[in-house]
Amino acid sequence: MLNKKKVLITAGPTREPIDPVRFISNYSSGKMGYAIAEAAAEAGADVILISGPTNLTCSSKIKKIDVITAQEMLDAVMAEITNCDIFIAVAAVCDYRPETIAANKIKKNTVTLQLTLIKNPDILAEVARLPKRPLVIGFAAETENLEANALKKLLEKKLDMIVANQVGKNLGFDSEENELVILHRNTQPIKLARNTKAKLAQQLVALISTL
Ligand code: C5P
Repeated sequence: MLNKKKVLITAGPTREPIDPVRFISNYSSGKMGYAIAEAAAEAGADVILISGPTNLTCSSKIKKIDVITAQEMLDAVMAEITNCDIFIAVAAVCDYRPETIAANKIKKNTVTLQLTLIKNPDILAEVARLPKRPLVIGFAAETENLEANALKKLLEKKLDMIVANQVGKNLGFDSEENELVILHRNTQPIKLARNTKAKLAQQLVALISTL
C-alpha cells in the first residue's frame, strides 16, 4: 500500500531543560507515533521515526533517530525531509522552552521562582511551508472542542490532513487506547471508533495510502 514511500514520523514528547537536573515536558508516551511507524513499515514504507524520550522500542526495519528537545527534533526532521513522500507529526512537542538554561542546579532559596519561557519552532508548520513539501499530516490532542480546534489547525498550518484525538477520559496521552476523528480538506470528518493504538494506526495508514 505504501510500497517504498519514504515516510517521516515524529513521536513522543520533547524535553526542555531548565538546569542540569530538571526539564519541562508532558505526558506523551510515544505509543501512537510508534504504532503508526510500525503500521507504515508493515504497509511497505521506508520509515524514519524521529523520537523524543520514551520507553519504547521499534522493529529493526524502522530507522529511529533519538532526540531530546524541540530544536533537536526540528534539526533531525529537516536533515531527513528531502525526498520524503509523507510527513506525520505525532510528537507532543513542547510549545515553549526556558529562555535560558541555568548552568548549575537552581537552589531553593527563594519563595517564588520565575522562569521565562520562549516559543519553540513549530516543526509541522515549518515542514508545511517548504517549497517542495511532502503530504503533511498533523495531530491535534485536545481536551475540548475537538473538531473545531482541529479544523483551525488544519487550515492555519496548511495541512493535508489532521488527526484529532480527545485527551482525558482514559484516552490519548499514555493510554493504550484512543479514538480518532480525521479531518481532510473538503470532506466530511471520518471517525475511527475507540480501539487499541495499534489497530487505529493500521486504519489510519490504510486511509493515508488512498490519498
Ligand atoms: O498546535 P498544536 O501543538 O496543538 O499542533 C499539534 C500538531 O503540531 C501535532 O501534529 C504536533 O506534532 C505538531 N507540532 C510540531 N511542533 C510544535 C508543536 C506542534 O510539530 N512545536
